[in-house]
Amino acid sequence: MEFRNLKAQYKVLKQDIDQVVLEVCSSGNYIMGPQVRELEKQLAEYVGVKHCISCANGTDALQLALQAWGVGSGDAVFVPDLTFFASAEAVSFVGAVPIFIDIDERTFNMDPDSLKKAIAKVNMEKKYRAKAVIAVDLFGQPADYSLIRPICEQNGLYLLEDGAQGFGGRIQDKLACSFGDISTTSFFPAKPLGCYGDGGAVFTNNDKWAEIIRSLCVHGKGENKYDNIRIGTNSRLDTIQAGILLVKQKAFVEYELHDINKHAARYTQRLTGVVETPFVPEGFFSSWAQYSILLKTKNERDRLKEFLSESQIPTMIYYPVLMHHQTAFQHLEQQEYSFVKALKVCERILSLPISPYIQHKEIDLVCERIQHFLRRQ
Ligand SMILES: *Cc1c(COP(=O)(O)O)cnc(C)c1O
Repeated sequence: MEFRNLKAQYKVLKQDIDQVVLEVCSSGNYIMGPQVRELEKQLAEYVGVKHCISCANGTDALQLALQAWGVGSGDAVFVPDLTFFASAEAVSFVGAVPIFIDIDERTFNMDPDSLKKAIAKVNMEKKYRAKAVIAVDLFGQPADYSLIRPICEQNGLYLLEDGAQGFGGRIQDKLACSFGDISTTSFFPAKPLGCYGDGGAVFTNNDKWAEIIRSLCVHGKGENKYDNIRIGTNSRLDTIQAGILLVKQKAFVEYELHDINKHAARYTQRLTGVVETPFVPEGFFSSWAQYSILLKTKNERDRLKEFLSESQIPTMIYYPVLMHHQTAFQHLEQQEYSFVKALKVCERILSLPISPYIQHKEIDLVCERIQHFLRRQ
């Protein structure tokens, strides 16, 4: 069994993907070919945001957003404690300080109350200027923007949505990657919408920021790439990857999102009452980057992982190390903030195999093995 069955997806889409790859190879337009702009146009339309700017990966996308706002030395940026390292790394990379925030133990996303408290603490201490909030759509489910956005507005903070795992998720009819003042995503192969290498994108309704980010992506270009008006970087999406994403986006919208939700529902139906299943609040819709359950204790989680592995069932722990425990962040000395809920989740969480292409019998086997393991206890 595969943890995320990308090979099954390729089998289904092979004809179209092979064709687009060969087309790009013969066209000679390897960088900034027409597929790149076409993809940006389609993604902006799908997400419901004015500008989509593609770039080299989801980490660059976060950095570009922070740079466009001029976030840097002396600034504090609030980041959830349970996330992939890049969400916080981007903050340090631009010279600012990440302040870690506890999570909501049911949704695993940033806890708005803890965010409020941390902002008040930073404002009172005056060591750093509170500048921005990075809310992460963890495991495919949007963060609670109905609470987080007003907190940002009351405190004059930029809201950056890290939608690397969230693409395709939504709250009511509003799609992920439209909730931030700037939102970002990643096209890393295993993300909800992935390419066959690295890729990412930035979304915003703001014309000025969009223009700055387009410039930053290409060495701070002005009129053209030999007119350089700021220090930027080289961060572009390859034409081949854009072509592949055009094919995959179609499948994503037409059936993949629907299918993966059906698979998640099958897991939930079979595992309810057996383990803690993922909580999707009313009106929220996940794109299921991960299907993550909670066990009772760390010991039970670790032994179940081992047991499933013996049955050839791959599982993952997202994430084994919280941000405030990362070696690279030890100098920040943030132990004084409270991370009680993140600590509890981190010890007990386990992500199960899922993809739009997982088979019913595979889901049933995973559930049967979990039940068998827990009955033995
Ligand atoms: C994957 C991921 C990123 C980084 O994306 P890359 O394309 O791998 O650079 C950032 N944030 C989160 C939450 C992610 O899951």
